Amino acid sequence: MPGLLLLVDLDGVVYRGSDPVPGVAAVLASRAAKGDDVVYVTNNSMHYRADYVTRLTELGAPVSADRIVSAPRATALYLREREPAVRRVLSVGAGGLDRELRDVGLEVVNAGFAAERMAKEGLDGVGAAGRPDAVVAGVDPQLTYLRIAAAADCVRAGATFIATNRDPVYPTERWIRPGAGSVIAAIEVASGVTPVTIGKPEPLLMEEAALAVGRRAGEAIVIGDGIQTDLAAARRVGARCVLMLTGVTTREAAAALPPDARPTAIAADAAELERVLGTLR
Ligand SMILES: [Mg+2]
Repeated sequence: MPGLLLLVDLDGVVYRGSDPVPGVAAVLASRAAKGDDVVYVTNNSMHYRADYVTRLTELGAPVSADRIVSAPRATALYLREREPAVRRVLSVGAGGLDRELRDVGLEVVNAGFAAERMAKEGLDGVGAAGRPDAVVAGVDPQLTYLRIAAAADCVRAGATFIATNRDPVYPTERWIRPGAGSVIAAIEVASGVTPVTIGKPEPLLMEEAALAVGRRAGEAIVIGDGIQTDLAAARRVGARCVLMLTGVTTREAAAALPPDARPTAIAADAAELERVLGTLR
């Protein structure tokens, strides 16, 4: 019998900002040693897989690059597997997104490059980006008016529009910054086209994460701290969910969930997570 399939959220579960959540990495290491498949799922749209491998290894969590299925990685896998006609992509996002898209063989034109050409050469977004087959958008810390214009031009001209995720905000340790959803909303309004969304609460990120170890998302136990993201995504794919109280969700908020929307279990810390996982098959 195979071990459990654990799809583990990162921020608010394994770490909180720059601090580890005590004991969680060790629980995951012991579950992996017993044969569970551990895959990490995060909506963060800015980083490359190798960044997480370094960080998780330092924390003592079981990890390899193929076990990191971030929203950018899932987006790249989705394009490779389900949109094989897409070759050239306009990306509105950070360097990690571009690298993930290039890793699966896509030709990537960053919106910053296209915007510069629009300004200097008097081109529209389609010409400046070289007529891309798809537009992929996430958090772009260098977002400008012309980058939005480039993306909207391409989408309006028929490029497939993909959102890494639609989180409205991106909380950092000091600030609440606009999330990918804010960037995508601008392109959506300007183009009149609603994108395909990869990240939580949509099911595609979970499906790609399960596929990364040759399994189905419906078998998974999602371990996450977000009601609107992790728990919602688990429900969408028919997976179980251990809702952690180590991040954004309070015990009161978890208790207030209607009976038909409750997680499989709630865990306040690593010890409770370990106990809960011990009861699941
Ligand atoms: Mg989280």
